[in-house]
Amino acid sequence: MLMINILEQRKKQIYKKGEKHFDMKCETTSLAGSVSQRACVFCGSRVVLYPIADALHLVHGPIGCAVYTWDIRGALSSGPELHRNSFSTDLNEIDVIYGGEKKLLSTLIELIERYQPKAAFVYATCIAGLIGDDVSSICKKVAGLTRIPVIPVQSEGFKGTKKDGYAAACHALFSLIGTSGNEQKVPFSINILGDFNLAGETWIIKEYYARIGINVVATMTGDGRIDDIRGANRAELNVVQCSGSMTTLAKLMQEKFQIPFIKVSYFGIEDMSEALYSVVRHFDNREIMEKTTKLVSSEIERIMPTIADYRRKLSGKNAAVYVGGAFKAFSLIKSLRHLGMNVVVAGSQTGNNDDYTLLKDLSDEGTIIVDDTNPLELSKFIQEKKVDILIGGVKERPIAYKLGLGFCDHNHERKIALAGYEGMLNFAKEVYSTIMSPVWQFRVSREGTEDI
Ligand code: SF4
Repeated sequence: MLMINILEQRKKQIYKKGEKHFDMKCETTSLAGSVSQRACVFCGSRVVLYPIADALHLVHGPIGCAVYTWDIRGALSSGPELHRNSFSTDLNEIDVIYGGEKKLLSTLIELIERYQPKAAFVYATCIAGLIGDDVSSICKKVAGLTRIPVIPVQSEGFKGTKKDGYAAACHALFSLIGTSGNEQKVPFSINILGDFNLAGETWIIKEYYARIGINVVATMTGDGRIDDIRGANRAELNVVQCSGSMTTLAKLMQEKFQIPFIKVSYFGIEDMSEALYSVVRHFDNREIMEKTTKLVSSEIERIMPTIADYRRKLSGKNAAVYVGGAFKAFSLIKSLRHLGMNVVVAGSQTGNNDDYTLLKDLSDEGTIIVDDTNPLELSKFIQEKKVDILIGGVKERPIAYKLGLGFCDHNHERKIALAGYEGMLNFAKEVYSTIMSPVWQFRVSREGTEDI
């Protein structure tokens, strides 16, 4: 068994269900030396804003920041694809000494002239912050010259956690909302917040809403468009999927435009159904409710025989779940239960106290719950709990493969839609084919191994 001592200062961020209760330490900066799995502030803001497809996204920093986040989300667009470029001011030694403002100004003007975007987002990175470039004033100047919104995103990487990047992105979006000149409300309408159209998931969800008679004004930010976002104040309800990233925006919109919000998850059978029902309950309309009941029952009826088939094969297998937002962890636990599987390790990068209370309630006895974990801890718990599959994001993949177990990408880079009823089928298939892959017969036995 791998021997790893948990760092003393991290002990309150790890809880084993069944042990003496304590409030988990969370929403804090990562412990120095613990090699967090989290990304930086800049990366947090970029992943949120990136799917706005008709905007220019310019990273003001050394080339590495832009490369590290290039095409980081598999966010699909039904039209323009400007977002898939990774523009950077490529700050180098000379700029660090003399300042990068001139370079930012000329780069922005050149790119806007060449690509004619609907708006531009300018991301401040660590170096831009350290050399003191005034990104906001350059953006203001360029907005005046080009007559498009040029929005600074104050996301210097060192400034906090990935969650601070989410907040910076929300403030950037908020500056656009209500600028369309049209304030008329759209009946039975919502904005979709925090679905990023990975592998076309926003389209699946929008289709459900269309079938039950709910109008979608703006999707923030999956398959996003600047004009839709400017008019997002016309919606009657904000529906927040990725609560870690978008609750800040929902609260800002509630305050300024009196638009209420609800938090949902589109993953798994129960949570997908509850997402639709909670929207419909808000509008309290009999016709919409009837259509919703019909949609939910027909979809569940359609997928259940296949799910039951997978369940027969996967029953008793162990899973570890480590994702960005805690809401996704809840949905994954429920989805894996449908497959007869046990979640023996569960955690998130950005969960808050309420999230961890819920996660403890939802988990089985003995489940290890972790906040802002690191590769060594994850490896230890995976081995101790005899995990068959790790479900996480791109940074967790090598951990799983090095330990010789299956991996399912439930984050930025996946190419398979996992949201909605269709997504539940895809998820079951993915989990099954990964765990059952014949490749695992070649792994070194975990029993009796002393190291990774
Ligand atoms: S931590 Fe700083 S330098 Fe590194 S990618 Fe983030 S913004 Fe760039």
